[in-house]
Amino acid sequence: MPVLAPQPNIDEDNQAFWKGVAQQRLLLMRCRQCGAWYWPAAYCRNHANEPFFGSLRWEDSSGRGKVFAFNIHRKPFHPAFADKVPYVFALIELEEGPMFGTNIVECRPDDVYIGMPVQVVFSASGDDVILPMFRPLVR
Ligand SMILES: [Zn+2]
Repeated sequence: MPVLAPQPNIDEDNQAFWKGVAQQRLLLMRCRQCGAWYWPAAYCRNHANEPFFGSLRWEDSSGRGKVFAFNIHRKPFHPAFADKVPYVFALIELEEGPMFGTNIVECRPDDVYIGMPVQVVFSASGDDVILPMFRPLVR
C-alpha cells in the first residue's frame, strides 16, 4: 500500500487560500487600509487592526517571485517522497513581498540558484491535492 504524502492543514484561517489553489489562483492577504501583503494570514503591522483581520482580505497575487533560499533534498523528508528525490525545497520572495515555502519543479535541482525568477504552477501531489509550486519564470 502506498504511503500517503502529508496533506495541507486546512483550517478556518486558510481555507480561502486553499479554495484559491483549487482554482489555480495564488491568493495572499492584503490590507485594504495600506495595501501591504501578507502570507500566511497575519494582522497588518502598519497600524491598529480592529476588528481583528477587519482590514484584510484575500487577493490574487502575481504568482511571481525569486528564489530567496533553497536546499536540495537527496534523502526524502517523508517516505511518500522516496520516489521524488532529489527535489528542491525553496523559500520564494514573492513580488508582493511575503516569503513562500514550496518546491521548485520543472527544473534540474542543480540549476536552481539564489535570485532565480520563478512563477507559480499548480501541481498534483500524486493524491487528489493540488499544491502551489514554482518553476523557472517563462517570459
Ligand atoms: Zn495595513
